[in-house]
Amino acid sequence: MTRHTAGFPALFVSHGAPTLPFDDVAARDFLRGLGGLIEKPAAIVVVSAHWETDSPMMTTTERPETIHDFFGFPQDLYRLQYPAPGAPALARRIAFLLESTGFAADTNADRGLDHGAWVPLMLAYSNADVPVMQLSIQTRRGPAWHWRLGEALRPLRNEGVLILGSGSATHNLREVGRQGLDAPPLGYVAAFNDWLAPAVSDGRRDDLLDYRSRAPEAARNHPTEEHLLPLFVAAGAGSTGRGERVHASYTYGVLAMDAYRFD
Ligand code: ZN
Repeated sequence: MTRHTAGFPALFVSHGAPTLPFDDVAARDFLRGLGGLIEKPAAIVVVSAHWETDSPMMTTTERPETIHDFFGFPQDLYRLQYPAPGAPALARRIAFLLESTGFAADTNADRGLDHGAWVPLMLAYSNADVPVMQLSIQTRRGPAWHWRLGEALRPLRNEGVLILGSGSATHNLREVGRQGLDAPPLGYVAAFNDWLAPAVSDGRRDDLLDYRSRAPEAARNHPTEEHLLPLFVAAGAGSTGRGERVHASYTYGVLAMDAYRFD
């Protein structure tokens, strides 16, 4: 990964299991290095798989709390805090961008950061000194809607803002835990991810938007779409539609932890 020259890249990262900060895996180490590989942004908008609403909504929270939106994990995980400041000014800017491209834009002044946001940010920007807000996804609207959302956000890349999509390249949670953390990918998982990676790097927009019928094992890898949709936002925010894969690994044999940058 190179430092940006003209504008920030939009990024898509796979956040994996909530335990990622404690897991000694390559994906964690990649995220730890992320903050040093691109210039420090003035603010971050995170599009996380874990905030789904009917229409686009933004957090305007001044001091977002760390939401531990998962159950049954080790107690240490519930003690982690990510006390980054909020970014209400960025939310106002995004409201303008969305409304001027035909989207509604609602705000939420109470919501904190879900683990799709704070897990990667805690690793990448451990000082918690970059203001951050979240923009929700609309799962029922599908890939093309989220690509257009990304296009609406594109000007932010020249305004010192990091657009960070956070989901998972593959995400069949029902099958997590049957293999060990370091298990090689199951066949159906690799089949999908080996289709996805060149489709992204070649910028095959039509294939990506229709991935559910064109990619092998799409529905098995994404029984619901919410963890892949942030990828389309990041892709739409890029200027070329092509993404450079900047990380590739697997956890639990079923979670592809790949990350992409879109310049
Ligand atoms: Zn998740």
